[in-house]
Amino acid sequence: MSTPPHIHDAPAIPHADGERPAPRFDVDKVRAYFPLLASTVRGKPLVYLDNAATTQKPACVIEALEEYYRRQNANIHRGVYQLSETATDAYELARRKVQKFINAGDPAEIIFTRGTTEGINLVAATWARTNLRPGDEILISAMEHHSNIVPWQMVCQATGAVLRVILMNDAGELLMEQFARLLSPMTRLVAVNHVSNALGTVNPVAEIIGMAHHVGAKVLIDGAQAVAHRVTDVQGLDADFYAFSGHKLYGPTGIGVLYGKRTVLEAMPPYQGGGDMIRTVTFEKTVYAELPNKFEAGTPHISGAIGLGAAIDYLTGIGIERAAAHEESLLGYGTERLMEVPGLRMVGTAKHKAGVLSFVMEDPAVSSLDIGVKLDQKGVAIRTGHHCCQPVMDRFAIASTARASLAMYTTRGEIDALVEGLKAIAQETAGRRASLPGVSVAGVAQSPAVVSYPAAFAASPMQAADQLAEEFEFLADRDTKNDYVLDLGRQLPALFDMLKQVTPRVQGCMSEVYLVGRATPDRPDCLEFVADANADIVRGLIAVLQRLYSGQPAKEVLAFDIEAFFRRIELDQFITSQRRNGLQGMVGRIRELARGIQAAKMRP
Ligand code: PMP
Repeated sequence: MSTPPHIHDAPAIPHADGERPAPRFDVDKVRAYFPLLASTVRGKPLVYLDNAATTQKPACVIEALEEYYRRQNANIHRGVYQLSETATDAYELARRKVQKFINAGDPAEIIFTRGTTEGINLVAATWARTNLRPGDEILISAMEHHSNIVPWQMVCQATGAVLRVILMNDAGELLMEQFARLLSPMTRLVAVNHVSNALGTVNPVAEIIGMAHHVGAKVLIDGAQAVAHRVTDVQGLDADFYAFSGHKLYGPTGIGVLYGKRTVLEAMPPYQGGGDMIRTVTFEKTVYAELPNKFEAGTPHISGAIGLGAAIDYLTGIGIERAAAHEESLLGYGTERLMEVPGLRMVGTAKHKAGVLSFVMEDPAVSSLDIGVKLDQKGVAIRTGHHCCQPVMDRFAIASTARASLAMYTTRGEIDALVEGLKAIAQETAGRRASLPGVSVAGVAQSPAVVSYPAAFAASPMQAADQLAEEFEFLADRDTKNDYVLDLGRQLPALFDMLKQVTPRVQGCMSEVYLVGRATPDRPDCLEFVADANADIVRGLIAVLQRLYSGQPAKEVLAFDIEAFFRRIELDQFITSQRRNGLQGMVGRIRELARGIQAAKMRP
């Protein structure tokens, strides 16, 4: 297995105290060790800025996985033969690496899971279900990922416990005084993230743990966004539970860790029953195994754990403090540079932040979805949406943000590419909006009837579908199809502001979508509709739906197999599944209107 070259050969620079030399952090050398970072997207170098979702993997992790399957593969803990012992040793060595990495007192306190989500669910299903009584309280924060909200809601439903929320200020910082007021002898558990994936806030977890312990509550820290970006010391923090995912720590997917204090884990019932978690089984009674096996039923993700161990070795070799210092300097640089983009507003401006840059573009308004799609065309990969933190979006009264997130291999050049891409989007949008033939809002807010509804494009939805499919057939690849849909959207009349005032938003879409329809005045069995969205790509999809459906008999709208049409034009090639969900939302609304028209026709 190759040793990362730059761990050993990085040129030394003098240490601050002038005595010990510290190796220089060389981002180019780090990058060279991540094969995927050298790839291109549409002929442009990949700029990967979605590290909060998952990080790329260094060669040593990829090689560790391969090495395991080539030379070590056997089931663990069970065989007496050499290969099984080799695999068991490698798996258990990975556990000790994790223990050291987060400074746990004992390898038995390291439970391998599928990821953060499973770690939290484990605690919810075992500790919480057995310890909580009606009226007990669980405190979570207003900036939690859904995986640190939903399991507790499920626990509350099952036990009668009550969920309470620690609020945050406009910068995205927890209101510690309000937290102090929430704490009481009824508080049994506090579950908060160390670093927010949506806002980048670094929470004062040591203080939170101290305060919670004061009232006798246990504390679970969601460390998903923290472990790769700062030194973790679970004993120093005195956390009862600490959960994280391997794939955000330069390791493989499908492997994660739940740390739990030995005394707490020992008192908990097992999570799942099965092989490897028992000492003896009879039909009358099972005696469970010791920690950590008690919580690892079945064959675990052996290669994943080994790969995670390799990732930890790699990061430790680089020096997590040095990687963190690099990311911090980039965060400062990125925050400053983003201010150059016209109309951009940062969401999440806490004093203590990690490498997450969440923002919206307001003037000119560009939906997060469009930002993501347009940056992708320039090879820049960022995340858009609610980031599995819908309550955070509600708190800031926005539907979504665009989020660039950093890793130790991120460069200033990549931040520059992001900023230049955003400036170009702002400029292009401002130019185009100025020339759009909009419908005036004044005086028509309550009267969408003044809008001209498009007439039928063809004799039936099927015929319209044939025509559209023919047009799509001429488009060679994903990009040209995408551009074609964007172009259709550009021709759609701008009705957004007006529709927003007269109808509720269509559910299920990542962007804001409004749709109004009615029975065609001179053909009351037919449906006609107009719609608009704040994302160009969705406007394009609206144009497609109008061609298929508007002006058509409601009966035919309902009979038309839209799924088959989407398959026919190979929609999945150029529309992501997230956007397809939104499309389903619009189709649902159109079908609802068609059903209304059908029902009206049936009425005497
Ligand atoms: N918590 C936080 C703060 C996260 O960012 C994530 C992943 N986005 C999770 C939990 C869930 O992690 P996983 O999907 O790996 O279980």
